[in-house]
Amino acid sequence: MSDDPKALTDAEWREKLTPEQYRVLREAGTERAFTGEYDKHYEEGEYTCAGCGTVLFESNAKYNSGCGWPAFTKPAEDETVEEKRDVSFGMIRTEVLCAKCGGHLGHVFPDGPPAEGGMRYCINSAALNFDKDD
Ligand SMILES: [Zn+2]
Repeated sequence: MSDDPKALTDAEWREKLTPEQYRVLREAGTERAFTGEYDKHYEEGEYTCAGCGTVLFESNAKYNSGCGWPAFTKPAEDETVEEKRDVSFGMIRTEVLCAKCGGHLGHVFPDGPPAEGGMRYCINSAALNFDKDD
């Protein structure tokens, strides 16, 4: 396999990911609300991309938005995610992608906590792995 995850073929992604991870990351799927592994998960640590292992979000930016998916006020670093206008399903939304592998993570909405910058990164658990702090 290539070191550049953007060079992986579809068959390689299917081998690397679980079917649910593949559906979310590679087909821009959305897991059902309130079903994801990290929705109500508040341990200290780092959330990494399930596709390529890049650290995407820190637990200190996670909050309970009540929306049914893991919500963060900001990415670990600005450049770890890419944001793209998404007009699917008749809505204008901003899609959030992993900058390294191009995997679909979720969407960002301007209704987050005002004191924390006002953004809500609404991310699928299936797109994430969690590294607990020691
Ligand atoms: Zn990635």
